Amino acid sequence: MGDCLFCKIARGEIPSKKVYEDSEFFAFHDINPVAPVHFMLIPKLHVASLLEADASHAALLGKMLLLAPKLAKEQGLVNGFRTFINTGRGGGQEVMHLHIHIIGGGHIPPMVRRG
Ligand code: 5GP
Ligand code: ZN
Repeated sequence: MGDCLFCKIARGEIPSKKVYEDSEFFAFHDINPVAPVHFMLIPKLHVASLLEADASHAALLGKMLLLAPKLAKEQGLVNGFRTFINTGRGGGQEVMHLHIHIIGGGHIPPMVRRG
């Protein structure tokens, strides 16, 4: 996807603070962190959101979930971390390229929001 922000970041066309890269995935720090450690893990393949994911992405999604704790630990989150995936406008997704947020390092409340 030529004009997708996260595709451009994964291609190195837009600078980012890289956390990790391999042939299938890219991880980078969020520009507007909500916790002392806040980075995102994305597939290099453009998948807009979980709503667009299907069975052909099963291996990709599984690998992402297994990569997340490895990267979190490498970033110092040895006691745990929170992952979240915003999906579509109804889920507050702003960048339409599937990404897992990984946050931690500060006080992470039991739930995102109460009330
Ligand atoms: P979403 O709301 O789509 O789940 O999350 C998008 C995230 O991307 C936001 O947390 C936002 O701060 C981050 N973001 C938006 N633009 C950029 C950018 O150009 N570079 C980086 N590193 N993060 C970005
Ligand atoms: Zn993309």
